[in-house]
Amino acid sequence: MDSLTKKVIVVGAGPVGALAALYFSHAGWEVEVYELRGDLRLPENLSLNFSKSINLALSERGIDGLRNLGDGGKLLDEVLSETIPMYGRMIHTGVPGEKGESQKYDVHGRFIRSADRARLNVQLLDALVLKDVKLFFHHRLRGLNLDVNTAEFEKIGTGERVTVQADLIIGADGAHSATRRFLQKSVRMYYEQTYIETLWQEYEIPPDEETGDFKIDANHLHIWPKKDFMFIAIPSVDKTFTCTLFMEQWRFDAIGDSRDNLLAFFRENFEEVIDLVGEDSLVEQYLNHQKLPLISIKCRPYHYKDRCVIIGDAAHAMVPFYGQGMNAGFEDVRVLFEHVRAHPDSMTDALASYSAYRVPDGHMINELAMQNHIEMRATVTSKAYLLRKVIEEA
Ligand code: FAD
Repeated sequence: MDSLTKKVIVVGAGPVGALAALYFSHAGWEVEVYELRGDLRLPENLSLNFSKSINLALSERGIDGLRNLGDGGKLLDEVLSETIPMYGRMIHTGVPGEKGESQKYDVHGRFIRSADRARLNVQLLDALVLKDVKLFFHHRLRGLNLDVNTAEFEKIGTGERVTVQADLIIGADGAHSATRRFLQKSVRMYYEQTYIETLWQEYEIPPDEETGDFKIDANHLHIWPKKDFMFIAIPSVDKTFTCTLFMEQWRFDAIGDSRDNLLAFFRENFEEVIDLVGEDSLVEQYLNHQKLPLISIKCRPYHYKDRCVIIGDAAHAMVPFYGQGMNAGFEDVRVLFEHVRAHPDSMTDALASYSAYRVPDGHMINELAMQNHIEMRATVTSKAYLLRKVIEEA
């Protein structure tokens, strides 16, 4: 393969698409990235991204994807410098004054890291600009013609259509991937989609007013498990915590828009959280923040001939309870590239072997994520779980 003569289009400039574009750019490909939304690096566009304030758990799986990019670890160092180590989860009862119980992730002290998703995405976009990758924002994928390797995009705002040709088209356009939808016209794709009953809603715990420091331990992922629902908090570098309430739709419906109902619910289940967030802020955030669904997708294969492949959430969107969605997407990129390098003369073979190798992993991590929903909200508090951990760590 003469890499310099090859051109790749990446659909979606989320974390996974941006990393894929970087890998191909480092390997000498001509790369163009097309993104539906505006440029995240501009402050006015941060609010366009629903996941603006999500803190993600970045683990070794994702770190390895960044490490193998081919830039000598430069981007990885930059990313890690803005993360916070989390050595374990802190399980809370929710009663003010009651100490949480620290459950370490690893007997050897290894940890996962809290990373700001938007900031991480900006760091990846900055790296793309340095590599002279062409970025096209406000472009929505409207069609693929895989007979002639073209993608059609609509410019948001003007409605103008542009058709672009490339040797390879990578779909990294998230859970509701248009690439996947168009791919299904060419591929006999197995496809399975599930929405779970639980919705998620973001909250923020501000820094301590007097000290300006974190209000609770910064080096844990905090969980207030309530068996069928839970509240979690992940530290941010600005000393806040990004929190998520994971709860079934019917409980949200039962609270409705009533301040009294909400406070009664929190007093009964998470009284400590009222103190941490602040009563008025809690109500304001509850009323104004979206309650969003959680989707889980399995499909196969991930590719078509030598022309198109889907990665990240486009291939295997999963519920977030294992903290592995983006990490698995970064791993997709690393593994895809291993297969591309292993088949230098045939992209057909590279994509076929990637898909065959990666599909079982994608399905498995998807299932583990679903199982961890029960572990996080319920099993972490059970005696059986704690006993098992003691035995494992002995
Ligand atoms: P996305 O981030 O969805 O990016 C896709 C991009 O494609 C977007 O920018 C979108 O605008 C663009 N796009 C969409 N359609 C089109 C189109 N037609 N044309 C052009 N562009 C298009 N993962 C972890 O690893 N650790 C965690 O701790 C974690 N926690 C999470 C917590 C929550 C509450 C949620 C909801 C998710 C969490 N995840 C976590 C999952 C993680 O957010 C996703 O796996 C990750 O964002 C997927 O990245 P992606 O680039 O594949 O897709």
